[in-house]
Amino acid sequence: MKYCVRCFYHENHPLNLTFSEEGLCSGCLVHEEKNQINWDSKLKKLKKIIKPYLNSKRSINNCIVPVSGSRDSYYIVYFVKKVLGLNPLLVSYNIHYNTDVGIRNSSYLKTLLGCPMLTLTVSPDKAKKITMYTMEKLQSIYWHCIAGQTVFPVQIAHKFRIPLIIWGCHQGIDQVGMFSHHHEVEMTRKYRKEHDLMGFEAEDLLEDKILSYRDIYQYLYPTDRQISDVGIRGIYLNNFIRWDTKSQQELMIKKYKYETSNLQRTFDRYSNVDCFHYSGLHDYIKYLKHGYSVVTDHATRELRLNRLSRSDGINLINKYNNIFPSDIKQFSKWINMSEKKMNEFLESIRNKKYWVKRNDEWFLKYPIEKFEIKQKKINKFTLKIKEKLDYSSGKKKVLMNTKMNIIY
Ligand SMILES: [Zn+2]
Repeated sequence: MKYCVRCFYHENHPLNLTFSEEGLCSGCLVHEEKNQINWDSKLKKLKKIIKPYLNSKRSINNCIVPVSGSRDSYYIVYFVKKVLGLNPLLVSYNIHYNTDVGIRNSSYLKTLLGCPMLTLTVSPDKAKKITMYTMEKLQSIYWHCIAGQTVFPVQIAHKFRIPLIIWGCHQGIDQVGMFSHHHEVEMTRKYRKEHDLMGFEAEDLLEDKILSYRDIYQYLYPTDRQISDVGIRGIYLNNFIRWDTKSQQELMIKKYKYETSNLQRTFDRYSNVDCFHYSGLHDYIKYLKHGYSVVTDHATRELRLNRLSRSDGINLINKYNNIFPSDIKQFSKWINMSEKKMNEFLESIRNKKYWVKRNDEWFLKYPIEKFEIKQKKINKFTLKIKEKLDYSSGKKKVLMNTKMNIIY
């Protein structure tokens, strides 16, 4: 198993990585553009792109911003409204795994920034039925969340004829360098299907005849004709501004009291605080399937942004990787599955490509610390630490996230 000579990703990253001759991954290579691009001229370009929408008299809201109760939502809405001067309609998909922090963040987001918000809540029975099916078919408890979050904004763009959708960060660029920032890629049905949805659009879930059209129609992507009729396009802000999630979230904590929370399986206290399972069961499933988890994503991001050394990153990864999630019981109850069946499910998805059993205990076959890179190679690609990693912003104001809210 090959690891990048700089970051913590291995060659089997599900979004696909390529490696330079010297062993630097495409994510690290594309990340270097962040320090080379003239971001002032990129911002000018963005302002030129949005100008026709800004002057549009067609609707009170001249763009759509997909949001949740965490991640980069606050910063995107702040930037779109206060810096670009647009008047966004916020669109949100209820993930059903809500934390109290996430519900408060989402409520304050619309009131503090003064934006209307539309939320789609599919019936709980339907969300459960689909999730039961995607667990079996795709080993995922999260398909309905990602599908809903990426389809509802496009449906609303079509329904209200608001052609511009503004997203924050494109993961294909930021994590794995699938595209350069210079490509300025926009939202596509193809990327959504292949990478966000693991190859399965809503209609593909009908093939086993377990789900019906009634179950999945709220997840159907508008047709190409509908998209071109309205001229819908989705742009990503990280192509036009230097993306740094942590700094952006700290600005939002300061300006709008964005609430943070401790999370189970990562040191990042700012992202994904709205979801009870993202950094719990969902992440544990990712660990069993792909041999790495969300803490690796966060450590890689912080290393590339000059806030984390390779050795400290490896320590953090080892600290959080093996934490057994405490939300399994609640999830089993929500989906009406016995704990025994749930444990069987988890064991069935453990990928033997990455796991080996010794003395009745499972271990990663290729842990990062055992990956041997010639010392001179590591030194050559080591980044300078410019700032100490600190996730304590907003700590005193935080109400800890202790239960999953079944609020619809
Ligand atoms: Zn790398």
